[in-house]
Amino acid sequence: MHQKVIIIGAGISGLAAAKRFNEKGFSDYIILESNSYIGGRINTMPFQKSFIEIGAQWMHGTVNNPVYDIAVSLNAVDNSVDPADTIYYSTQDGKRQKENVVESIIGDVKDIVDNLEDKIDENKPNQSFGELVDQEYPNIEKKYKSKLDSFTIKGVFRASLNNERFESATDNLREVSANGWNNFETLGGNLLCNNKYGYSKITDYLASKVPKGSIKLNQIVEKIDWSDDEVVVTVFDSLTKKRSNYTGEKVLSTISLGVLKRNHTQLFNPRLPPKKISSINKLGFGTLNKIFVIFDRNFSREFQGLQVIWKDNLKFALQKSKKKWNLDNNQFFKAFDYFEKLPNHKNILLVFNAGKNAEYIEKLKDECVLDVITELIERCFSYAKLPKPVKIIRSKWSNNINTRGSYSFVKVGSSIDDMNTLAETVDNKVFFAGEATIYKYFGTVHGAYKSGYDKAQEILTTLENNP
Ligand SMILES: Cc1cc2nc3c(=O)[nH]c(=O)nc-3n(C[C@H](O)[C@H](O)[C@H](O)COP(=O)(O)OP(=O)(O)OC[C@H]3O[C@@H](n4cnc5c(N)ncnc54)[C@H](O)[C@@H]3O)c2cc1C
Repeated sequence: MHQKVIIIGAGISGLAAAKRFNEKGFSDYIILESNSYIGGRINTMPFQKSFIEIGAQWMHGTVNNPVYDIAVSLNAVDNSVDPADTIYYSTQDGKRQKENVVESIIGDVKDIVDNLEDKIDENKPNQSFGELVDQEYPNIEKKYKSKLDSFTIKGVFRASLNNERFESATDNLREVSANGWNNFETLGGNLLCNNKYGYSKITDYLASKVPKGSIKLNQIVEKIDWSDDEVVVTVFDSLTKKRSNYTGEKVLSTISLGVLKRNHTQLFNPRLPPKKISSINKLGFGTLNKIFVIFDRNFSREFQGLQVIWKDNLKFALQKSKKKWNLDNNQFFKAFDYFEKLPNHKNILLVFNAGKNAEYIEKLKDECVLDVITELIERCFSYAKLPKPVKIIRSKWSNNINTRGSYSFVKVGSSIDDMNTLAETVDNKVFFAGEATIYKYFGTVHGAYKSGYDKAQEILTTLENNP
């Protein structure tokens, strides 16, 4: 089988590349996808007359965001406003904390993060985001010590940085390079814009424009041989269990950084240039998982979420189902801290887990995770008289063989140059796109989209210059 261009991966970056090809009337390409579905880290699951997002949920910004523009053209932007605004705050011993004090600390920490740029020294590549933000903690403690004990202040301070942890898919902000963080560009407009019909509406739309038969699902790329004039791609069909070869003039790999970290040696023949391998090894690729907790009844209209404030001086251990589960790492309880109601469901709370704790939780049985969450919520928020959790649905991105984690971040010891190196073309034949190849917008759908779209244009230009 021969095509001029072989795209590996039918995630948003591979599909954006196809969009550029289609716009230019170029159809001599094929997309090889190892999953049985298109979209990759965009994966909308129908649920309860609506949907839940196993991967990406939000369009982060509405100005100069090509993904948002597609959603607008499909009339698929959710502009509804959820009136819910009640959040309960409790420490792990079940003591309710005053909303106004907690929210005031959260606001102060947000200001610290918003102004952190001034503290970042471009000449110190090993400065971490975590270290810089922690330097500000004494001021927060001083300001609030007449209102709260220092363990509670510390707990709120830590919780206030959740979004930063989730955005870098880590539970340790000292891993995150301050420079890398600072070079990320936030788009304008609504940063948490929802899709009315789920994110897969966008990937389905892009796939519908690809020439019929040009997306091949269940094709696991095992080898990319670029030793000769033409590139030979060997695939294993997970349905027929047969191997076959595709040849092409150019290959565009959108394989995740997580998969590259594990498999680049086996995947590429000859091996990738040492500089690229070094960047693959140095950059961060973390885990962010979602656990959807389904309750037996709807929440009240005003209810928005639950925040557990973890105090370092208090222990938390299961009492009700302690014997049933042999849990050796009680630190992971702390990964359950903010439970938020989904805007499109009345009886579901979503809790994110990041980093090593997320990887640990991924290995636990669903029943065990449900027991832990049920007991935590009952003990911390008994005063809130909430409905009862009955089931969980969750992602397991770390174990997913097609991603091996959730998304990239600039780790201390690496820099944005490593993302540029990852994006570099090898031998004018093997091109690279995907969220980890674009330092301004890494870890996002729009970043992945832009990288794929721009690489396709680069490939077209190369083909035109060497017809
Ligand atoms: C839990 C979670 C929440 C997120 N939330 C948001 C959000 O709210 N907003 C946002 O903007 N971004 C979010 N993101 C990030 C966003 O989903 C990704 O940045 C983006 O979807 C990545 O697209 P991609 O095309 O680079 O990679 P992918 O979507 O991973 O596409 C690559 C494709 O390559 C395939 N592949 C891999 N290996 C092979 C192989 N050997 N052979 C063949 N095919 C292969 C994979 O199956 C996959 O389909 C989230 C991600 C996660 C995991």
